[in-house]
Amino acid sequence: MIEPQAKRVRTCIGCGAQSGKASLHRFVRSADGTVSFDPTGRKPGRGAYVCSAECLESAFKARKLQRALKCGIDQGSAEGLMADFLEALGSSR
Ligand SMILES: [Zn+2]
Repeated sequence: MIEPQAKRVRTCIGCGAQSGKASLHRFVRSADGTVSFDPTGRKPGRGAYVCSAECLESAFKARKLQRALKCGIDQGSAEGLMADFLEALGSSR
């Protein structure tokens, strides 16, 4: 069976779970080097995906997020990302 190319599988950088784009949440590093949560999944830049807040936190602590995005993320920025992420999750439920 040949899958259409549009059906891309993403991998959570926290736990390694694979799923379609809709159930993973994207973080993106823009051209100026800032990392932000991307609720639309359409921002330009290098992206990384996580499935949950727990995975975001563990990916940050294990420096997987930094590696995936190829940039440094300080504690304050990570807390901001987490806050944005939790807010977005809260509003979508
Ligand atoms: Zn995960």
